[in-house]
Amino acid sequence: MQNVTELCRYSQKKIIAVVKSDAYGIGVEYIAPLLQGLPQVEAFAVASAEEGVSLREMGIKKEIIILGGILREEVEAIKSYKLTPVVSDREHLELLKGKNVKFHVKYDTGMGRLGFTEDILIRDHRITGIMSHLSTPADREFSLYQIKKFENIVKKYKGSFKIHIESSAGIIYKVPYTTHTRIGLALYGEKPLRNYPINIKPVLELKARVISVKEIPPKHPISYGRTYTAPCKMRIGIVAFGYGDGLIKSLSNRGYLFFEGEKLPIVGNITMDMTIVDLKNSPVCVGDWITVVGPEQSFGDLARCAGTIPYEIMCNISQRVKRKII
Ligand SMILES: *Cc1c(COP(=O)(O)O)cnc(C)c1O
Repeated sequence: MQNVTELCRYSQKKIIAVVKSDAYGIGVEYIAPLLQGLPQVEAFAVASAEEGVSLREMGIKKEIIILGGILREEVEAIKSYKLTPVVSDREHLELLKGKNVKFHVKYDTGMGRLGFTEDILIRDHRITGIMSHLSTPADREFSLYQIKKFENIVKKYKGSFKIHIESSAGIIYKVPYTTHTRIGLALYGEKPLRNYPINIKPVLELKARVISVKEIPPKHPISYGRTYTAPCKMRIGIVAFGYGDGLIKSLSNRGYLFFEGEKLPIVGNITMDMTIVDLKNSPVCVGDWITVVGPEQSFGDLARCAGTIPYEIMCNISQRVKRKII
C-alpha cells in the first residue's frame, strides 16, 4: 500500500490503522491482512470489542485498540483476546479494576464526544497510550487550540506512551509531541480535505453491470414517482446497482455514473436494485461494466453530489456487492 508509505513519509510517525465498520465498508477481511504485513502499521483501531474479536479471529496479531468505550459484557473478551480498550469515562476504570489489561486514556479537548474534559492525571501502570480527537480538522485555529490543550495534558504523564490525535485530515498539523497517527480514510485513497498535501492514490473501484439498454419516446416517465420525464427520444441504460447496494437515493437526478470515461447522468429515482442512466450516444451494450467509483469519480465526488461525506457513502456499500483484491 503506497498510501501508507506516503502518509508515513509526511508525518514521520507510525500508523494506527483505523478499520472500524468493516474497514469503512470496504471489507476488513481483505484490508486488515494487507495492512498487517506493513511495518509502518503498528496497531489497528476498531469501534467495539466485537470488531476487535473478529480481527483476532482472522489472524491479526498486532495491537487492536477499541475506540468506542467499554461495556461490562465486553470485559471478558477484551482480556481473553488481548484487546486494548480506551478509557474515556470513570465507569470504564471501574470495569477494568483488578484486571490485567493494558489501555489508552482519552481526553476530550473539544470533540464533545468521548473522553475526559478535565485534564486529570490518571495514575495507573496499565496505561500504554494517551489520545484525543480533532472535531474540525479543516479549522486551523480550533485544531491548534485542541492540540495545545492535549499537549498540556500529555506533559503530565511520565514514561513512554503511544500518543495520538491526528486523523487523516489532522495529519496536516504535524504535531511534534505525538508518536502515532490514527488514519482511516486516507489509507483507502480518499482525500479528507480539498487541498490535501499528501499524494495519496485512489485504490478503490466500484463497478456494476448494465442489464438493459433501450430507447424511450418523448414524454415517457422514468422510475418510481415519475421524477424525470424524457424531454425527447432518448437512450437509457438500466444498471444493476441501487440503494440496496449502497447508492444512496439522494443521488437520484443529481449524480453520475461513467462508461469508459464518459459521464452518464442518473435519471429518475434510484431504486433498490437498479439505477437508470441517460446513455446519450455512448456505445453501451447489455453486460457492459459501468463505473460507480473509479478514476473518473471518487467517493468524495459522489458525497459532494449527495450533500454528505465520503465516509457515509463508503459505509453504505452493502454486503451483496462482491469484493475483489486486484
Ligand atoms: C474514525 C476515527 C478516526 C479515523 O478518522 P479518518 O478521518 O478516517 O482518518 C480516528 N480517530 C477516531 C477516534 C475515530 O473515530
